[in-house]
Amino acid sequence: SGHSVRAREVLGVHSFYARGSNFQIRQPAGSQEFGVTFTDHMLLVRYRGGHWMDPLITSRRPLELDPASSSLQYGLQIFEGLKAYRPDPVGPETEDVVRLFRPQENLQRMYRSAARLALPLFDTGSMLRLIEEYVRIEADWVPVRAPDENFRAVSLYLRPCLISTDARLGVRRAEEALFYVIASPSLGGYYSAANNAGVTLLATEEFVRAWPGGVGDTKCGGNYALSLVAQELAHAEGCHQVLWLDPDRNVTEAGVMNFFAVTSSGEVVTAPLSKGLILPGVMRSAVIQLIEQGRFPPGANHSSWRLVERSLSVDELVQGIEQGRIVEAFGTGTAAMICPVAAVKYRGRTFRLPEASDAKRRLTWQLSRALEHLFFDPDPHFAAHPWIHTV
Ligand code: PMP
Repeated sequence: SGHSVRAREVLGVHSFYARGSNFQIRQPAGSQEFGVTFTDHMLLVRYRGGHWMDPLITSRRPLELDPASSSLQYGLQIFEGLKAYRPDPVGPETEDVVRLFRPQENLQRMYRSAARLALPLFDTGSMLRLIEEYVRIEADWVPVRAPDENFRAVSLYLRPCLISTDARLGVRRAEEALFYVIASPSLGGYYSAANNAGVTLLATEEFVRAWPGGVGDTKCGGNYALSLVAQELAHAEGCHQVLWLDPDRNVTEAGVMNFFAVTSSGEVVTAPLSKGLILPGVMRSAVIQLIEQGRFPPGANHSSWRLVERSLSVDELVQGIEQGRIVEAFGTGTAAMICPVAAVKYRGRTFRLPEASDAKRRLTWQLSRALEHLFFDPDPHFAAHPWIHTV
């Protein structure tokens, strides 16, 4: 570990190193960019003639795809995002395990996305076992968190994908497909508690992300393609992200996060999943359960937090902020964890959430802490938590 600490000093906290006593630095600092740097391997599983076949973990390289493939022509493709975390070392040796957070939830969501996009269905348990094997092979890429990196969610991001490889023009159910997984280390993203500023959201009526009967509750690429011009509009208006409204002007999601608002009476409001307008976030469901269980560390103001799934109109939101009834808002997601909202801009006016007098009493801080323990705390209590899937 002496070696690793020296290496970290030399390369800065952005360096990371392999597990075990023989620390090896994979990449120098600065060359690790999330979504740009990828691990060495990929997992491939083919679907043909009604069967999944030939699972293969192989070196990462471009796919060969017929130009007529219906994934390219008609958007028959879906994906997922989940992370592998390495628990903090207890002694000089880095732990030889990594933690996945509720991976079954991601695979079940992927199954539902596949069903909606007429892609072949799969056995989620079998796919999870293949992903475990893939994670074992790429385990050295799961970064170790430096001792002073509280609230820093370093991880290996896993991107399972399912695309149609059906090479016939004509809109039809995919008969040939490819399930594959790639991975990219993620070293950034401080948790909310370290990020007092929070994000600014542009609530716009000009663009709608999802509508009843659509695909807003699936993770298909089209949902992200249609978000780009709205995202550019948000930037042009000086905001970080879009606050998506449904056709009735109810708040749905914030960028690629689920959205929560906290009232002064301790009500925690988030949009219901019932209308199919909301991506059912794995983090969303975790946050809901954490609030419902009320299991926060001592000192939290938890007795007064009550989770309510109901529609929240943008008018109620901005008036609530203006009149002091909404005291906290945040987004949740695998990538951002818990991301506080600083302000909402709507019809040219900016509505600022109040700043925290005591950050530790805030729900965003308490949730971030609870998640941090689950991901990084070497205590066996957390390792054995039902949400933690050890590989
Ligand atoms: N909403 C959208 C639109 C998303 O893309 C994501 C990221 N998957 C989320 C919410 C958060 O979902 P999760 O907590 O599963 O990452």
